Amino acid sequence: MLPRLSLVIPAYNESQRLPETLAKTSRAIADITSEAELIVVDDGSTDDTHQVAERFAGPVPVRVLRSAENRGKGASVSRGVREARHPLVGFTDADSPYDLSALVPMMRALESGEADVAIGARDLPESQINRGYGFVRLVSGKAFSLLTWAAIGLPFRDSQCGLKAFRRDVAQQLFALRTIDGFGFDFETLATAVAQGYRVERFPVRLTHDDDSRIQIFADSLQMAADVFRVRRNLRRGAYEKLSVVAEAAPCPLCGEEDFTPRAANHGYRMVECLACGLWYLNPMPSTEALAALYGSEYYESDSPLQAGYADYEHMADDFLETFRHRLRLVRDAVGTGRILDVGAGFGYLLDAARELFSERWALEMSAAAADRIASDHRVVVGSFAGTDLPAGYFDVVSMQDCFEHLPDPHLALERVRYLLRPGGTFLATTPDVGSWLRRLQGRNWVSLKFPEHVALYSERTLRRALESAGFRVDHIESAGQYVRLDFLASRILSGYDTAGTAASTMARRLGGAHRRIYVPSGSLTITATAE
Ligand SMILES: [Zn+2]
Repeated sequence: MLPRLSLVIPAYNESQRLPETLAKTSRAIADITSEAELIVVDDGSTDDTHQVAERFAGPVPVRVLRSAENRGKGASVSRGVREARHPLVGFTDADSPYDLSALVPMMRALESGEADVAIGARDLPESQINRGYGFVRLVSGKAFSLLTWAAIGLPFRDSQCGLKAFRRDVAQQLFALRTIDGFGFDFETLATAVAQGYRVERFPVRLTHDDDSRIQIFADSLQMAADVFRVRRNLRRGAYEKLSVVAEAAPCPLCGEEDFTPRAANHGYRMVECLACGLWYLNPMPSTEALAALYGSEYYESDSPLQAGYADYEHMADDFLETFRHRLRLVRDAVGTGRILDVGAGFGYLLDAARELFSERWALEMSAAAADRIASDHRVVVGSFAGTDLPAGYFDVVSMQDCFEHLPDPHLALERVRYLLRPGGTFLATTPDVGSWLRRLQGRNWVSLKFPEHVALYSERTLRRALESAGFRVDHIESAGQYVRLDFLASRILSGYDTAGTAASTMARRLGGAHRRIYVPSGSLTITATAE
């Protein structure tokens, strides 16, 4: 007998066809394997698709997952894959156009290890496609396979066949890097499988009737072509690489919901937006150990500042001082007994700027090399925010400048901030703003899409929610700025365009930009909040 199978069926307004599909599919699956489940993912249907699916009773149990909104086939299949319980996972279409006996050789190959991914193919000699498989689709299919071959190197003529099966661990790993909600997820998954070196094998399928009935040829073709180029860009930036660190699929760290839409991907990391609360977070999320290992001695002297850490941090000391003085104006009335803690203190510049206001200045920094360079009139503690002993209820102000976005659990982090603050103490934080014009302007090249260091990115709304749920009263929230030299500014604005960025930066320097400092919005938010 073949191993157990979870078969995912995405369905959008399928209440008419679904009973017949489920009857046919469950009969076929029951013949193939002793234990199986059908997972119907109702993709935000406006008809009674989910009731029809829930009412169905047949030889194989049916689980129904329901999305509140119509998200696309990729999002639906992905959700089904995430919740699959059996060691093999497959998916097929709600109109059931395939003879499911094709699954038998697919599952055998997966079980024996001859394949990690088994895909149905409509173009093998043994494949049978009937007249219903229209001429236009055949032609556009060939043009399309040529495009996917030329643009993303997929060696398959038919990447879009709606019958595929995987080992569950492989499927979950591949879908965890998906950035496309619509039909393009099919070739994106295959591109990911190929990039990660998995064995993808093709199997002939037999069509029992016309398929792809829900595809609108023109509009969907345009979208698919656009998606091909998105996958090409992602491939080039290594978005589908296998990670060397431990990372796990995770629910939203702010609200706990699991529904998301992909937002950005690079170097094997993917950032998603929670559809319930709007938080952007890394999913899969690297383990705490993997994150801790990032902040070694090289972090503040990086060769590739836009990938990791900061370049030439010390050179910019004067700019930082000026910037921090500006931010500290927000806590002038919160000085109290004069104790401040700066978390993620770097070289201690915020504390340098805080000398006039605060008599007792504590720095917490994970990088020992950076901590070595903090001025000796501050108290330096080396360690992580979660794991270091600090006096409770002690500080008038706890500051995090470009640090909150590095912390994977906002609730834990804010609970700890509250624990360290005296009652009525103030939290001063600056963190990137996904609602900022800079993010919109720079799109996928936004400098704050820096993975895996930035694990959660906030907007005014999500930051407020995090603070309020942790028992803070938000006093003030503003879009943050920073003092910069013109040459630095030029390279930042053109981040992602290396040659242009370097040229603009050089030109700005020639024009005296290295001596001229201006205050510019930085695409971040600065907030102050009181521990109530
Ligand atoms: Zn959320």
